Amino acid sequence: MKKIFISFSISFLFCLIINAQSEKEITYIKAGKLFDGKSDQLLSNVIIGIRGQKIFSVNQNQELEPNAKVIDLSNSTVLPGLIDSHTHIVLHSGNYDNQIIKETPEYRALYGAANAKLTLEAGITTIRDVGNEGAGFADIALRDAINNGIVPGPRILTCIQPVSSTGSYNLVGFSPYITLPNLSYVADGPEKIREKVRLLVKEGADLIKVYMESYEKKQLRKDLLTGAMNYTLEELKALVDESHRAGLKVAAHTYSDEAAKMAIEAGVNSIEHGLYISEETFNLMAKKNIYYVPTLLVYEMWRDGKIFGGISDEDKIKLANTCEEHIKTFKRALKTSVKICFGTDTFELPGTNAQEIELMVKYGMNPVHALISATSLSAELLGIAEQTGNIEVNKIADIIAVEGNPIDNPSDITNVRFVMKDGRIFLNKAQSAR
Ligand SMILES: [Zn+2]
Repeated sequence: MKKIFISFSISFLFCLIINAQSEKEITYIKAGKLFDGKSDQLLSNVIIGIRGQKIFSVNQNQELEPNAKVIDLSNSTVLPGLIDSHTHIVLHSGNYDNQIIKETPEYRALYGAANAKLTLEAGITTIRDVGNEGAGFADIALRDAINNGIVPGPRILTCIQPVSSTGSYNLVGFSPYITLPNLSYVADGPEKIREKVRLLVKEGADLIKVYMESYEKKQLRKDLLTGAMNYTLEELKALVDESHRAGLKVAAHTYSDEAAKMAIEAGVNSIEHGLYISEETFNLMAKKNIYYVPTLLVYEMWRDGKIFGGISDEDKIKLANTCEEHIKTFKRALKTSVKICFGTDTFELPGTNAQEIELMVKYGMNPVHALISATSLSAELLGIAEQTGNIEVNKIADIIAVEGNPIDNPSDITNVRFVMKDGRIFLNKAQSAR
């Protein structure tokens, strides 16, 4: 025990020395064009000053400290690092059931580390991770390893395990005699639900996720992706109350308008997916400051057979209908003032996250609003807007650059050439540093 303490102290001291050194280092980024995360217009020829982890200046004209490092991104558009509000970083491509049944959480954690690097290099500097299907504590291990500089990756806020009711969230099609890994923390009744939330708080969860509906338990229609409801209002109120008492926000996985209405009444903070939400419900969300995370991309990838190891003919029709209804729902949301956050759910294809922004624009969102959604608005939902999500003095230096101009051409957001997180450069294909 003593030995562990000594080695911890030495590594802690080492970190302090490194931090003390990097605290003094000054870097300037010359941004040809700048989207700052909040304004609706690009600024030209801005210089961003970074000392250690933080931004200390953002000016069009400024004297540069001699001997400082200068990153010339004058041919690029510079933006705040993107924030993906809905990921599953420890899931990977290939057969979905097999990875859960045949692979250990340790093996999956290593996959998660590889996914984290790809995600960061695609310009995503923060993710809110909402469950990894029985991968134990792989996500918090990854979160902590990234925070300690052991592996590269985005900053992670994780729910560890979603909460759901008995029978609601399991692998589908297996004999009931087979014991399968738990994909969530199962709890029924207000008291048991409170117990699970308390356990998650103790285990280090950054948020609580609840499954409002599960197609895994029961499909209500054959032609559309639907799921039977899991909880009563009384149970949900207990979950939300216990989460909020611990200072954690609640993300509610919902499909139907009915489920969204119940989640709103219980006081959740965000509605995830929300495939079939009415305009009336979006107005209610806007009034109560509840965010909408539509996750458009994942359903299109599923429909197109790019995830879940392919798709059956029956599911192809179901997913095509689902995507059509989901797009209509997204367009209804745009007519209201509900806050729409960027979240991808693209768990099998790390690095494709920014394609969600292209879809948001394709289905009618103003390109500037899509970029705000992926930066400062998502930071607001995650509760980290004081630290990151836009480029201004005293914010953490989470800065990316893309080739072209994503406001004129949304697909340019996928041409990431430069990534800085916490003031450290993780990708630089844009230019040579001085
Ligand atoms: Zn998801």
